[in-house]
Amino acid sequence: MAKSIDWIDGALADLEDRCLLRRLAQRERSQGPVIVLDGQRLVNFGSNDYLGLAADPRLTAAVRQSLDQYGWGGGASPLISGHSRLHAQLERRLAEFERAEAALLFTSGYAANTGTIAALVSEGDAVFTDRKNHASLLDGCRLSRARVQVYPHGDWRRLEKLLARETGYRRRLIVTDSLFSMDGDLAPLVELADLADRYGAMLMIDEAHATGVFGHSGRGVAEHQGVETRVPIRVGTLSKALGSHGGYVVGERRLIEWLANRARSYVFSTAAPAAAAAASLAALDIVEAEPGRGKLLLDRSEQLRRRLSAKGWNVGRSASQIIPLLLGDDEQVIELSAALRHRGVFVPAIRPPTVPPGEACLRISLSHAHTSEMLELLAESLGRAPDPH
Ligand SMILES: *Cc1c(COP(=O)(O)O)cnc(C)c1O
Repeated sequence: MAKSIDWIDGALADLEDRCLLRRLAQRERSQGPVIVLDGQRLVNFGSNDYLGLAADPRLTAAVRQSLDQYGWGGGASPLISGHSRLHAQLERRLAEFERAEAALLFTSGYAANTGTIAALVSEGDAVFTDRKNHASLLDGCRLSRARVQVYPHGDWRRLEKLLARETGYRRRLIVTDSLFSMDGDLAPLVELADLADRYGAMLMIDEAHATGVFGHSGRGVAEHQGVETRVPIRVGTLSKALGSHGGYVVGERRLIEWLANRARSYVFSTAAPAAAAAASLAALDIVEAEPGRGKLLLDRSEQLRRRLSAKGWNVGRSASQIIPLLLGDDEQVIELSAALRHRGVFVPAIRPPTVPPGEACLRISLSHAHTSEMLELLAESLGRAPDPH
């Protein structure tokens, strides 16, 4: 008998035909510069553990210690009884670290973005979003039911035209990644802050890939570009460079109080285990004690980018530890990723819907924990860029 979900067979087959079917690989042991994936030991250029903290013994020790006192489960949403002393301590610490009045912890950066946008704008408002913004920002825009205006990637001139034209809304919000997750390039935050001022719009930035890496103290691209005090809504994640888990928003106290009341992904979701907060606190200790990690990583990234460009690879506008090799063809990126894997090097193939159709790439993500031998192996294995199809 036919079943109501039989259509899925055809839909999956279609993905497979278009080289878009994804399957889960299984990792053994910890995240790090070398991983074991599907039983194969690989030098890993496919994680966001930028500072090499995900398996740092100081984080695991903090988790162990917290477990005795707090147990494991969060048990309830923060507003009911899930908000532990460690969560409160982490929020104060994040506010201090980010030089903001207050911070709010979410269970993920994804939840922080969707919940925050939908709490700031709704029907009758407008949100302006970069075409290459992370999916969680776009989903927040859609959820909000505000009018969504997509502007071309990084194109603040075009955004200005939109802001001048699209008037008559109750509120307007500009939202952008600060460091774009696939292209590895930076948003023009100074220009965006100018536009926000000039047109009376709110500005929200997502520092997910930049927290801990960019800026003298690791506060992100806003610190790097000197615009922190001009950005009223800043999102970061604890799950990438900080090697822990969770997302957060920092800003004025009234913003944080509003989000705690109105961000649905905050209100209606169980608080993360206190142990995750303990790990995040330990990670912040390390970032503050060893502020040179981000800079070293960015210096090495620049060297590798130069070397790859010299060998004919198109690294686009990358200016960070995220280096895409832009090839465009879905099949070609899969073949290249497989060839590298054969040599013990893991560089994931990135295809639609993560990137727009025709923009498939290999995404190299560098970590402070990579040795020069590992970078050498990567460059050697890649060799010269293939001729364009
Ligand atoms: C990864 C990512 C997120 C989501 O953060 P998680 O903590 O992994 O949920 C948000 N924004 C950007 C730009 C990201 O790359």
